[in-house]
Amino acid sequence: MKPLLCVHNISKTFPGHDRPVIKDVTFCVYPGEVLALVGPSGCGKTTTLRTVMGFEHADAGEVLLGEQVLQREKTFVGPDQRGIGFVFQDYALFPHLSVLENVLFGLRGAAFKKRGGPAMTRRRRAQIAKEALWMVGLMGLEDRMPHDLSGGQQQRVALARAIAPGARVILLDEPFSNLDPDLRLATRNEVRMIAHRAKMAVVLVTHDQEEALSTADRLAVMREGRLVQTGPPEEVYNSPATAFVAQFLGRTNLLEGDATGTHAVTPLGRVELEHFTRGKVLLSLRPEHLSMQPAGDEHEPGALCVGKVVSREFKGHDMTFRIRLQSNRHEVSVQTDYATGLAVGDRVCLKARTPAAVVEPDDMTVQ
Ligand code: ATP
Repeated sequence: MKPLLCVHNISKTFPGHDRPVIKDVTFCVYPGEVLALVGPSGCGKTTTLRTVMGFEHADAGEVLLGEQVLQREKTFVGPDQRGIGFVFQDYALFPHLSVLENVLFGLRGAAFKKRGGPAMTRRRRAQIAKEALWMVGLMGLEDRMPHDLSGGQQQRVALARAIAPGARVILLDEPFSNLDPDLRLATRNEVRMIAHRAKMAVVLVTHDQEEALSTADRLAVMREGRLVQTGPPEEVYNSPATAFVAQFLGRTNLLEGDATGTHAVTPLGRVELEHFTRGKVLLSLRPEHLSMQPAGDEHEPGALCVGKVVSREFKGHDMTFRIRLQSNRHEVSVQTDYATGLAVGDRVCLKARTPAAVVEPDDMTVQ
């Protein structure tokens, strides 16, 4: 399958800054795919999106929409001629225009024709706008004014306005941040369904790792202007490439170990490794990938009775324990979804339930 959008090695340094805000960023997005660009605040997500849209001019690199070059060396196609739809955080609708008129705005003659669209009758434009509203589930609300809509409905009008001109690539920058949690969940599922159904390529910027994990078909994790790992959410979550990725996508235990091929010796005992490797390694084991029993009970084969409970946190559907290991230098978190009956001070046996991921160390804290 051919990608709908590709960026190759784009870099950007703002005047007066000594370091690039984005550096050598490369990714492609395919039809029917939601790619989530995630990373901490200030890592360059918005700048990447603005460069794809043509609101920023990258210093180097190229942007391609299918076969069409949008930016390469001296070529630069302006934002309104790129044929890319976007919804940014405040999804500003025109308050004095109805829902239908807001969507029609993107189809108004001049702007649409400039992009190579055909001249259209008003009737045809209204039909296209209504189709876009149907796609986002807003049929019947054409005549409402924005202030008569819920936040989620307004967000969907913005989405309809972005897709109505026939854009196959849609850029979304924190589009759900103004919505309450229930609506947020419903709306992001809807975006995902629309992308899949209409075979659009969506790039979603978010700093919310849970949103990224649950909405995206693929994640692209950014740090300090660079892409550090891309891949399906499960893969990036379970096999993070670096300590930063492991910690950014959820809680994890980082442990040093001595690898001897398929296993490593760690403060938690001998753990299986995801990849064959030898020598000093840094390992990531998520709290839910550790199992725990009271010491003294009949415990799982291979479990090491090396820890003591120092705290427990009840979270409704699960519990997280902090366990100090016998070495006293290390603490690990263990998440259980069953009642363990364990209390602070109890001695416990621990075992890794899955092979540990070998991660590249970086400057994240090692426990
Ligand atoms: P957030 O999640 O907080 O929105 P982000 O990952 O989207 O952050 P960007 O908005 O791309 O990050 O900003 C990256 C860096 O570039 C920040 O340090 C920001 O201050 C800087 N920056 C962004 N736009 C400009 C600009 N026009 N001029 C100068 N610096 C800028």
